[in-house]
Amino acid sequence: MISMYLELLRLNYKDKLDKAAQEFIGFAKNGAERSEKLIHDLLEYAKVSTMDKSLEKTSLEAVLKGALSNLELLVLESGADITHDRLPDLTADTTQMVQLFQNLLSNAIKYRREGQLKIIISAKEENNRWLFSIKDNGIGIDAQHKEQIFDIFRRLHSKTEYSGTGIGLSICKKIVERHHGKIWMESQPGQGAVFYFTLPK
Ligand code: ADP
Repeated sequence: MISMYLELLRLNYKDKLDKAAQEFIGFAKNGAERSEKLIHDLLEYAKVSTMDKSLEKTSLEAVLKGALSNLELLVLESGADITHDRLPDLTADTTQMVQLFQNLLSNAIKYRREGQLKIIISAKEENNRWLFSIKDNGIGIDAQHKEQIFDIFRRLHSKTEYSGTGIGLSICKKIVERHHGKIWMESQPGQGAVFYFTLPK
């Protein structure tokens, strides 16, 4: 509603507003859009624990397909080259698995560098769990931040550099922990990042 009325102001009063006023409307519109995204992401974060959906047999192949189809435009625009191991079937919350893969993949795309973006998704069977990893060749981060980035609202970039709310990885952490798994990352600046997570068989 705020965005809509600001847009009406901009369109209907175009001739009466000077350049500065039009610029202020632009800032206000950006603010309204960011608030909307923040509310949306916070609701998603809250939903991870309130949603009491029972776990079901889940094909992670289908989950990955779903996540990639939600990100279709981003994947196309970025020209990402994405390869993946064959993913197993597990007992899990299907919707949350889609969100987990989607958040990690959209970050791999967002924090890319110049040149061909490569994303490798691996799955390795261990004793009583599966170890998954999503590896990119993007901007990477300094190892000293590798734990804080999973905290809510924690961002290493300003909103002008990369847009975001700092909630995506905290949702991932909540989802993985709700499935009794672990999530962590390894990276060096400029060397890409690898996000690992485990899920019990
Ligand atoms: P957002 O992307 O909205 O800032 P996230 O919780 O998804 O929030 O990520 C937190 C921070 O972790 C990001 O601001 C970014 O600095 C860092 N980050 C996440 N994924 C990657 C990645 N694949 N490569 C480099 N940095 C990343």
